[in-house]
Amino acid sequence: MLQDFLLKEEKVQAFMCEKDTEYIGQIAPLMKIGALEFEERPGDAARNNGRRPRVLSFFRDDPDMEARPEEWERETFGGTYICFRIRPQKGNPWETVDRDLALKCVTGFALIKKSVYLLDGFRFSVTHDAAFGSKNLTFGIFRINELMQRGQIGEFSVFFMNVNGTGEMNAQIGRENGTHVMREFVKRLEDVLEEPEAVWRIGGDNLGAVVRNEKTDRFLEMLQGTYIPYGSGEEESYRICATAGICPGSNEFHKTEQIVDAAQTCMNMARFMKHAPYLVYDQQIIRMLENARHVELAFPEALAREEFQVYYQPKVSLLNNEVIGAEALCRWIRDGKVVPPDQFIPVLERSKLICDLDFYMLEHVCRDIRGWIDMGGKPVEISTNFSRMHLNNPNLSRQIVEIINRYDIPHELIIVELTETTSSVHMKRMGELVSKLKDEGIRTSVDDFGVGYSSMSMLRDIPFSEIKIDRSFLTYTTDTRDRSAVMMKHVISMASELGMRCIAEGVETPDQIRMLKEMDCLRAQGFYFDKPLPKEAFMKRLRMRVYSEKLVN
Ligand code: C2E
Ligand code: CA
Ligand code: CA
Repeated sequence: MLQDFLLKEEKVQAFMCEKDTEYIGQIAPLMKIGALEFEERPGDAARNNGRRPRVLSFFRDDPDMEARPEEWERETFGGTYICFRIRPQKGNPWETVDRDLALKCVTGFALIKKSVYLLDGFRFSVTHDAAFGSKNLTFGIFRINELMQRGQIGEFSVFFMNVNGTGEMNAQIGRENGTHVMREFVKRLEDVLEEPEAVWRIGGDNLGAVVRNEKTDRFLEMLQGTYIPYGSGEEESYRICATAGICPGSNEFHKTEQIVDAAQTCMNMARFMKHAPYLVYDQQIIRMLENARHVELAFPEALAREEFQVYYQPKVSLLNNEVIGAEALCRWIRDGKVVPPDQFIPVLERSKLICDLDFYMLEHVCRDIRGWIDMGGKPVEISTNFSRMHLNNPNLSRQIVEIINRYDIPHELIIVELTETTSSVHMKRMGELVSKLKDEGIRTSVDDFGVGYSSMSMLRDIPFSEIKIDRSFLTYTTDTRDRSAVMMKHVISMASELGMRCIAEGVETPDQIRMLKEMDCLRAQGFYFDKPLPKEAFMKRLRMRVYSEKLVN
């Protein structure tokens, strides 16, 4: 019977206390029990686990309430006591054999309770983050699962959150305070929620939550910034923020993991692509994800079939309007249509696929240059883009040199464009890469200069050959007194003093050309001269050599 009970209990997901009445109901008729009271006082661990002291009573037929009850007290687990008070039936007094039987049952019951508490303790440790003292992802999965099974998930939204700048926080206030702030933050979030809503820690600085739909705005407000005091002084507090991906619950999801994954995808998109505080899983995101999946699937074959083409956007000297080079930009010719890079590069950049594309582009550029040289033309320098993803590849410079040499291209004709990076590890690798390429006579350019944060230290530490000023410096204004113009002027003179060349990208108007000339930036690239051109059109430009009609004084 005990075994049956245990086996049966194992299938019960919820806490097992509710089963006690049923069980007492089952054992009482086996004996001459008239009334049975069961009192339970949970120990610390069980109380933390949400269990409260309680008394259950069971009455059968006609209990002899006058009789002194027999009492048994047993310790079960984690400091928990259970106490039984049993009275016989009226006119059916206890005999020794009855008392023995009752004692056996009580001991058996205590044993079962012990295993239940053990299970509870086990369940607690499985569903809680010991180091952090909060619930963990397993708890979250259980909770979402429960809501799905009850058909209530539509009333809730699932959050996947990443606390912003934890590294910075630890550096600023110390690791210990940082952990304290994180823990308190979780508690504050918990405070605004009510069962079955919950917050849990996923690991590292990632948190999860299930929140009632009507409460998501309030919850989001807290994620945008909550001040948490730390240290002994009351006046010290840290403002903690988190980026969130939100997946509104729906019966269309069949698995808990699908909801959590959707929320996580949104968090990643918010963080790395949109730079937004949060993103909600909706039709637009679903379409983007479908496109991303499609791109990832189709890419390897498209690459093998050479569906990607190099377009060349001329770089022009502002001294004489001569074409002095070009940037190689990728286009995907798919079903006869030209697909611009913003529809596939960000997808490829989520994985190493982008590296294959960049090598492909460099190879095709080299092939084109070789063709021009072999036809007796005068080649110009071509820059190609290399994604940050390459920085994890220690052999990158060797591979670049190998491709260039395979086509016997003079090294000074290739410029490698790299965008800034904020990670110190990447910065170090970028420094090594740029130095190695420099030793090989291959130039490097800082792409999109000025939109990132680390520009200045990068210029100080890494021997780039060129900086490419981002178009945002130009598009805001043509007024030289404007702040961005002041900055640009100094960037240009600083670059020249550091021995670097400057080129402005995204040039669209004669006013901008005038301003650049005034500032001594004598190279430009942009729609004012040409959009990125297919190879043949660019060759025509090369033959023409000068944009005579576009001279600006
Ligand atoms: P990027 O490297 O900053 O390239 C410059 C982008 O600015 C190009 O967009 C170009 O068409 C656009 N542009 C040029 N002049 C003007 C102008 O006057 N006004 C405006 N509004 N835009 C102008 P595109 O070709 O769509 O490329 C977008 C981005 O895709 C590139 O930005 C680059 O980050 C990435 N990309 C393109 N090809 C490759 C590649 O082969 N490898 C890698 N890793 N990234 C690539
Ligand atoms: Ca570029
Ligand atoms: Ca750029």
